[in-house]
Amino acid sequence: MQKITWENLKSLMLRNYPDEDLAVLAKAYDFAKSAHANQKRFTGEDYIFHPLATAYNLAEMKVDMTTIIAGILHDVPEDTSNTLDDIRREFGDEVSQLISGITKLSNLKYRGIERYAENLRKMFVAMAQDPRTIIVKLADRLHNVQSLEIHRPEKALRIAQETMEIYAPIANRLGMFELKSQLEDYCFPYVYPEEYRWVNALIKDRLKSERKYIDQIQKIAYRELIKHHVPVIEIHGRVKHLYSLYKKLIGHGKDINKIYDLIALRIIVPTVADCYWVLGIIHSHWTPLKGRVKDYIAQPKPNGYQSLHTSVFTDHGRVVEFQIRDVAMHEISEYGIAAHAKYKEATNQFVSKRSYKWIEELIKWQQNIKDNMTYLKEIKNDIFQDRIFVFTPGGDVIDLPEDSTPIDFAYQIHSELGAHMVGALVNQQMASLDRSLKSGDVVEIIKDKNRQSPSADWLQIAKTSMAREKIRSQLNRKRGQRFWN
Ligand code: MN
Repeated sequence: MQKITWENLKSLMLRNYPDEDLAVLAKAYDFAKSAHANQKRFTGEDYIFHPLATAYNLAEMKVDMTTIIAGILHDVPEDTSNTLDDIRREFGDEVSQLISGITKLSNLKYRGIERYAENLRKMFVAMAQDPRTIIVKLADRLHNVQSLEIHRPEKALRIAQETMEIYAPIANRLGMFELKSQLEDYCFPYVYPEEYRWVNALIKDRLKSERKYIDQIQKIAYRELIKHHVPVIEIHGRVKHLYSLYKKLIGHGKDINKIYDLIALRIIVPTVADCYWVLGIIHSHWTPLKGRVKDYIAQPKPNGYQSLHTSVFTDHGRVVEFQIRDVAMHEISEYGIAAHAKYKEATNQFVSKRSYKWIEELIKWQQNIKDNMTYLKEIKNDIFQDRIFVFTPGGDVIDLPEDSTPIDFAYQIHSELGAHMVGALVNQQMASLDRSLKSGDVVEIIKDKNRQSPSADWLQIAKTSMAREKIRSQLNRKRGQRFWN
């Protein structure tokens, strides 16, 4: 990992923030540098290189200036004699509040399920107050795992595990896919050393020849686009991240020949119309594979991802995948919540946005966490299982953990809908209540107003802790009524 200097950060800022005044950032750098003046990192280098690298990671995500300033100051109150009050005096309330949130998160450690839930609780509280807190925390963590080699093996392993268990899933949930993949790739060799060596050996030669080939295709594609005067912003080959390749291989019988997107060509253009224009040009030059053209612009993936994907036969009978998108789609797919955070005033709306509804719910749930192991485990499942997205007949999207049933769906909408439910239609067909829902299903709940409360069996069928909690309380209510009537 290359050391990041102030000069490196400054030139990245000039590139990504051409219109911003860098005076306050320079002041923050001087402040942090003198605050950390006598501190060294494990490597022996001056401590300031850590906050610099954190700020650099943030600037790559193109977050707002306040967040970058907070990144450069993030370890000051905890590790130096300068206090939060000093920061407030020098840099104002917004920066100091953000840093106060980050400092509160500084002791997150993965130590078994209880601590785990407690850590998550802290994360979500911080996130509710200001989502930028988590973004700085993730950029800080990214630099920590970028320099794992400086630690003793046991410590490196602990940091790597913690990152895979806590930070990567959170980055994923926030739509920060690039960051999530980077975190995973840095930790992969520490957490799964054998599997890492296996994947690495498997792709080593292949990647070399593939890269050469993709370079040729990229040149041809670029020439075609220029010939048609397409205002191409960027065209590059993106190599699949190692850990996600490993997971895909596991899902495909460990057969590397079944992986078509080891390297995909990515084309970034200014507008949506340009995207379709590019697709047309690519298809008129090479023949597309049937069924592999995916319009995620008209129909975004459930997680909000947008792009056009197509796989084409190139002249040598090989298959190459193209991913075509505009600038906004690109930034959102790489940086997720951080890309939205560019617009400060929008940050507080994140948690109320539909796609982040689960965060809201967690915040509600954590308020009544009892010291109950089953409950904690259930919550863990709710967060880290993969999510599915199903629709109401009216077209509303409901976000649920994988393997959720119509019962979970009904309770997600309204607890009374759950109580009165007698059946469900999935894609207009009668379905049993224990049916495992899939992303894209349209679910309609059939209710009967004479039904007053759920069946106790539903506790076994429901997958979400939220549905089970509501069923339990409705069953108790019913028992209470019977007693009093
Ligand atoms: Mn730090």
